[in-house]
Amino acid sequence: MSSDNCSGDIDLFSGEMSETDIQVVTSGGLRIPAHSAVLASASTVLENILVRPEKLRSSERTIRILGVPCDAVSVFIRFLYSSKCTEEQMERHGIHLLALSHVYLVPKLKQRCTKGLAERLTIENAVDVLQLARLCDAPDLYLRSMKFLSSNFKKVEETEGWKFLQDHDPLLELEILQFMDEAELRKKRTRRHKRELSLYLQLSEAMDCLEHICTEGCTSVGPCDKEPSYETQPCSKFDTCQGLQLLIRHFATCKRRTNGSCLRCKRMWQILRLHSSICDQPNDCRVPLCRQFKLKVQQRGDDDLWKSLVGKVVSARAMSSLSLPKRKRVDEPKMDLGHHEVMNFRLAA
Ligand SMILES: [Zn+2]
Ligand SMILES: [Zn+2]
Ligand SMILES: [Zn+2]
Repeated sequence: MSSDNCSGDIDLFSGEMSETDIQVVTSGGLRIPAHSAVLASASTVLENILVRPEKLRSSERTIRILGVPCDAVSVFIRFLYSSKCTEEQMERHGIHLLALSHVYLVPKLKQRCTKGLAERLTIENAVDVLQLARLCDAPDLYLRSMKFLSSNFKKVEETEGWKFLQDHDPLLELEILQFMDEAELRKKRTRRHKRELSLYLQLSEAMDCLEHICTEGCTSVGPCDKEPSYETQPCSKFDTCQGLQLLIRHFATCKRRTNGSCLRCKRMWQILRLHSSICDQPNDCRVPLCRQFKLKVQQRGDDDLWKSLVGKVVSARAMSSLSLPKRKRVDEPKMDLGHHEVMNFRLAA
C-alpha cells in the first residue's frame, strides 16, 4: 500500500470521450474523474447509486470507493472502461480487485480475478486467498486454494496468515481441517477402487481366455475334440492366458483336487463357476462344468456376495470391451514356446 501514489488527482480518460461528470474518491484521497454512463453500464451496483442522486453527494457528484489501496481503485475503474487489466496489475492488486468485482457486481472482472489468483497461489497468500474466496462467494477459487492449502499444509502452517486465521477464524480452520480429512479419505477410496477394478479386469480377461481356450484352443491347450496346434499363435492376452493354461493343466492332473485341499484347484473351480455365472449360452458352451454349475444355481441359488462379484466382473468386461480393441491375433508377436516343452495336454470335458 505504501507504494500507492495518492497525492493529487489523476485524469485517466481525457481525450476522445465527452467530459467526465463524476469523481471517484478513494481512501487515500485520490480523485479519479470518470463518466457516470460508463460506470453505470459496467456495474449494476454503481448504476443503482448513480440513478438515485440522493445517494450521491449531489453538490460534488462523487462516489466513494474506500477500504482498498488507491492504485487498486484506479485499476478497477480502468477495467470498467476497457474490460482489461494487465498481468502485472493482477499480480499487484488481484486480491483487492476480486473484492471490488464482488462488491460492485462486475462478473467479467470477478472471473478474471478468480483465474488470476488461482494461478498465483503461494504458501504465503494461500490463507488470504481462501478467506477472500469464501467472503466473495467464488467457489472455484475457494476449491483451488483449499486444495493448494491441503497439499502444502506443512509449510502453510508456518505462515503468519495461518496463525492469524487460527486466532480469528476458528470456523474456517475447522473447514480446512475437515477438507483435508476428506481429501485423505477420497484418496484412499480411489486407491482401493483402482485395485478392485484391476482385479475385476483380470477376472474378466480370464473369462475371455477360458472361452477361447475351450473353443479354439490357444498355443498348447485346447478343447478335447481338437488337436492342439503348436502353430497357433499366442493370443493378445497371453499373460493371463498362459497363467490360466498352467492352472488348467494342473487341475486336470492334480491328485488332491477332489478332497478340496488344493488351493490352485480351488481357484480353477472358482473360475469355472464364474464363467458359468456369466455365460449366456450354456447349451452351446464348450467350457467344462458350465451346465452343471447352472443347474446347481437353479436348484440352490447364489449367495449375495457371489452375485455382487459376478456383477462387477460383468461390468468390468463391458468396460474393457468398450475401451480395448477386439483380440487381434494377427498383429501379435509370435512367442517361442518351444523351449518350454509343453505337454500336449487336452482339457477333459
Ligand atoms: Zn490365449
Ligand atoms: Zn490341485
Ligand atoms: Zn458356458
